[in-house]
Amino acid sequence: MAVRQQSHAAHSLDDTRLRLLLAGSLIVLLFVGVVARLLYLQTVKASELRRLAARYGGLRVQKWTLFGRRGQIKDRAGNILAMDVNSLSITIRSRAVTEPAQVAATLSPIVGIPATEIERRILERRLAAEQTADGKQRTGVFVLKREISGEKAEMLKAAREQERKRVRALRQKRARQSTAQSLRATSWLDGVDITEEPRRQYPYGPIASALIGFTDPDQEQGQAGIERLFNDTLSAKKGEVRGIAGARGQILAGTRQVISEPRNGSDVQLTIDVNVQSIAEGCLEEVMQKHQPAGACALVMDVHTGDLLAVANVPRIDLNERGRELKEHGLGVMRNMALTFLFEPGSTFKPITIAAALEEGRIRSGQGFYCAGSAKVGKHTIRCAPHGGRRAHGYQTLEEVVAHSCNVATAQIGLALGATALYRAVERFGMLERPVVGSLRGRLEPPEKWQRIRVANVAFGQGVQVTPVALLAAYAVIANDGVYVKPRLLMSDPFETSPVLSPEVAQRMRQYLRAVVEEGTGELATVHGYEVAGKTGTAQKVIPGRRGYASGKYVASFVGFAPADNPRIAVLVVVDEPRNGHYGGVVAAPAFARITERVLAYLGVPANLQSEARVSNARR
Ligand SMILES: [Zn+2]
Repeated sequence: MAVRQQSHAAHSLDDTRLRLLLAGSLIVLLFVGVVARLLYLQTVKASELRRLAARYGGLRVQKWTLFGRRGQIKDRAGNILAMDVNSLSITIRSRAVTEPAQVAATLSPIVGIPATEIERRILERRLAAEQTADGKQRTGVFVLKREISGEKAEMLKAAREQERKRVRALRQKRARQSTAQSLRATSWLDGVDITEEPRRQYPYGPIASALIGFTDPDQEQGQAGIERLFNDTLSAKKGEVRGIAGARGQILAGTRQVISEPRNGSDVQLTIDVNVQSIAEGCLEEVMQKHQPAGACALVMDVHTGDLLAVANVPRIDLNERGRELKEHGLGVMRNMALTFLFEPGSTFKPITIAAALEEGRIRSGQGFYCAGSAKVGKHTIRCAPHGGRRAHGYQTLEEVVAHSCNVATAQIGLALGATALYRAVERFGMLERPVVGSLRGRLEPPEKWQRIRVANVAFGQGVQVTPVALLAAYAVIANDGVYVKPRLLMSDPFETSPVLSPEVAQRMRQYLRAVVEEGTGELATVHGYEVAGKTGTAQKVIPGRRGYASGKYVASFVGFAPADNPRIAVLVVVDEPRNGHYGGVVAAPAFARITERVLAYLGVPANLQSEARVSNARR
């Protein structure tokens, strides 16, 4: 009996245990089921999601874009010239909107569209989506506003937060009252999707606009400038997630599945200094005011490292207003003249010919040259344009040939040098290369075809086309004791040099170019407190694709470096089709002087106040 009792007791104990165990197992099984479902949803196919969504009715599977950050463009000090900022956009699913009037009233001050207009659009889209008479199914979904940033974005976020709180409070209140009344509370957020996406911003507005370029607002693809040239480096890769959309357009928890991860783009760091850039652009704006040219550019280069500290072009546009500005001015305003403008340098080329002839030993520094105002070369006559009512330059030292910019003597020197050596000099000074990414090669046909007149013309800068950046780099050779330093535009560009002139020839050329500014055609390039060296250029404009020149159209330039005895920077100003004067010495030299003076002061190069007195004496 005891045994039975015992056994009975044991049995009943087992029974209870079993029941408990079964109940426990059921809970565990249920729990495992939920977890499994959640895990499963991370990996299920879209079709599974869709089936699940259909089963719960009214839910839909949707994809969301995950944005990576496009790389930034920075100056040499790390100042940000182009960056992604998050902006909001509002998409409206018109059929899901429950409170059209309230949507309109709330969003109107944020998006700057009249409330009546917003409401009209919602109702129209909804109607169009419901009428499928033409057989086309319309979704009724439309983007109300893109690129909402700054204050407006904050307003929008605050309004959304306030509304969410209101709806939550209302639901809780109704739940407490536990009446038969529906827990559902309508909201102006119904059918209103607020999403965040990156937008390209240019913190310095118009600074370096042609250099930096821009992206198209939708795809973030570079359309011009560095943005286009380095699009692959800068580009972010978009990612995508899929899930079931809740009533307010959000992903329902547990249904999110990543299709692809986004990836950020890489930064591009330029050698330009935003302060030097802005000095150069300010001076170019003055040239625009005074001479109303088709365009103008200025470059500032560190003669020792080749770093381009400014690549300035005018006209320019505020990159943050690119849509409106491009509509108004056309794509021409994005021309990076400093890197791509092919022009005949004219007189600024003469020192290259003379330096090459000195280096090759074809002329001596003490040699004299005679100019009768014109000279015959074969059947052709070349002429000088002496200033001050003189018909000819007469007897001149080499220094005077440079200072007077004498065509006749420079042609003689070119002929003494010969076609092949002259062509090779153009090559060795880097003028037929592509100095930096985005620039063009210079143009000069091979010397085998040259007649004597061609040699004479090239010697004084005609029949050869160069870009501003290549001409500047050639002058930096003279500034840098005869060593060519390849210009650098990116901090990651390699440092490349090649010897072109002996230091003695370079030093002599510096002395000649100083005389140009002190007593020659470049007097307006005089810089207070610093001795500068340089050369003016005035060339007739070549008609693109044809032989000959456009009448009355000129390119005025001034190129040089400072301080003359120990150069730090080389500076070039080129003005395309100036009005109110066309001589380089009048149009470009004053801008050169202002840029040089301000940049030297900015770089902390000590001024020598005695030089002003010296210049005054030399002028007398
Ligand atoms: Zn002459």
